[in-house]
Amino acid sequence: MSAINKELNAALERLAESEHLLVALDFDGTLAPFVDRPEEARTLPAARLAIERLLEVSHTTVAFVSGRAVDSLELVTENLPGVLLVGSHGAEYRFDGVDAHPPLDEQDTGRLHALTAGFSGFSDAHPGARIERKPAGFAVHTRGLDPEAAFLANDEARRIVADVCPDATVRDGKDVLEFSVLDATKGDAIVHLRDYTGATAVLYAGDDVTDEDAFAVLGEPDLALKSGEGPTIAPFRVHSPAEVAEVLDSLGRLRAATGR
Ligand SMILES: [Mg+2]
Repeated sequence: MSAINKELNAALERLAESEHLLVALDFDGTLAPFVDRPEEARTLPAARLAIERLLEVSHTTVAFVSGRAVDSLELVTENLPGVLLVGSHGAEYRFDGVDAHPPLDEQDTGRLHALTAGFSGFSDAHPGARIERKPAGFAVHTRGLDPEAAFLANDEARRIVADVCPDATVRDGKDVLEFSVLDATKGDAIVHLRDYTGATAVLYAGDDVTDEDAFAVLGEPDLALKSGEGPTIAPFRVHSPAEVAEVLDSLGRLRAATGR
């Protein structure tokens, strides 16, 4: 059965007619199924094909907007030329291979040093929990840990941050807890991307709590698509990355059929 009902199809047809279309996509849980080792996650082949087709249509921009550090995002998305990369929930940008990190000021740098020192013994105390360093903070990954070990790791991480950097931004994700000295969100990223590309309509698809910030900045001409379970403000929902791929395929065909 198709993941695309009548309402979603009508919304995609409207979107395909827009003057300049921005297709902005979360990665993990949206384009790629979850895997235990984050570096092994890859875009589903059907989604990749659909994205390649979208990239061939003029006045159409594709962006990946992820909580991953931008280096990690570039690695797992395997270099699709022309795709704009946004990492760390809007704290890192890489457009055409050029980095545009919002710079850390002196105060943020000081707070990042305090966080780094706070987490220095963490990995030894919590075997199996993985620390990912980001330009403006840390992510603590607990995928694969048993629930009690994950709880203890998260609990201590929160305690460390409350101690050394109480005004850090904390984000809860699926088996990941993130701390940043910046307070950029995926909503900020969409606002910046819309402005940068001059898009007249935006499709945003995502599966996690932090994607709600992106949905929140979408308006009348746009389309918000939630992937998977959980509460959302997005009007449209599909159930898996495979179904996201189906939506992208349909949008690519509709967009190409407009003769652009
Ligand atoms: Mg995700």
